[in-house]
Amino acid sequence: MTANMTTNKTTQDLPLLGRSLAELSEWVESQGQPRYRGKQLHEWLYEKSARSIGDITVFPKSWREQFALNPSAEVGRSQIYLHKQTRDGTEKFLLKLADGEIVETVGIPTSKRLTVCVSTQVGCPMACDFCATGKGGFRRNLAKHEIIDQVLTVQEVMQQRVSHIVFMGMGEPLLNYDNLVGAIAVINKDIGIGQRNITVSTVGIPNQIPRFAEEHLQVTLAVSLHAPTQEVRAQVIPSADRYPLAALMNDCREYVDITGRRISFEYTLLAGVNDSPEQAEELANLIRGFQSHVNLIPYNPVDDADYKRPSERAIQTFVRILEDYKIAVSVRRTRGLEADAACGQLRGQHAR
Ligand code: SAH
Repeated sequence: MTANMTTNKTTQDLPLLGRSLAELSEWVESQGQPRYRGKQLHEWLYEKSARSIGDITVFPKSWREQFALNPSAEVGRSQIYLHKQTRDGTEKFLLKLADGEIVETVGIPTSKRLTVCVSTQVGCPMACDFCATGKGGFRRNLAKHEIIDQVLTVQEVMQQRVSHIVFMGMGEPLLNYDNLVGAIAVINKDIGIGQRNITVSTVGIPNQIPRFAEEHLQVTLAVSLHAPTQEVRAQVIPSADRYPLAALMNDCREYVDITGRRISFEYTLLAGVNDSPEQAEELANLIRGFQSHVNLIPYNPVDDADYKRPSERAIQTFVRILEDYKIAVSVRRTRGLEADAACGQLRGQHAR
């Protein structure tokens, strides 16, 4: 009960984080301050990662001091509950939200890039059988500022500008549609990350893929396919019953028609389930002629799930068959595995 009440409070409070330059300027004026302080506030929130008004040293001391007592001026940053570096350079964060819920974020540095794997929900209701987050159940949607905060936290702690965003953390982004689209706008316009460097990954929610296409964003849509047939897909993805493969593929086609952008199909390879040479051919036939790219993800072992990662040989055979059909394919080598295995597992150990 108490948790629910707190949730309502944090979403209605509208923290400063997530507001545009114009909105921040209006807000400082409403506080009796000159409008130009809106620009300062914008810079301190989105570039200098200020955690409170008190941190903003260019503001007059007398004004800053008022905020200690004024909760409406709450910036809306989450608390870093745990920060873990893995040997390959990946940094994992557990963030504690205002109502005590915990969410996971990962910073992944590669040569000149810094990618953040962002969560959109606390837990996930989709319950995919091989996914650690799915095994943990669903708590709630993240608010817009709680999504944006993850990017700022990684930027602040890793002391490097974030260049890429993947919405591949906890949760199903298209089930938190408005906050997802709102957060993308802020990440793009206010934090300054190009839309083309942003990827949204979805397992597919009825009607939401065409709706997302109509936003006309330059982001990449990644669709978690995981099987070439309805039968196998429904074995591992419970929601496939309500949104069959044929309907999903139609929506993907519509997405390509509307946006002119190719889709990235994600395919988690599970030994003995979806990794046979015949299934590679079925997959090739399913997506032939489609503007797409296939991203194979060898299964990362997860507690409570009874799957196995295919052998390197099986992975390479699968790749070769797709290539024979002239399908663009890559294999995602997940990093950050040695400490807590796949994404979602770290939270599992701390928030049950
Ligand atoms: N809800 C979104 C984001 C999920 S995470 C979606 O379903 O697309 C990003 C990808 O990792 C998804 O394709 C997801 O199915 C996959 N994934 C989840 N757990 C995995 C595991 N243990 N091993 C390999 N891939 C996994």
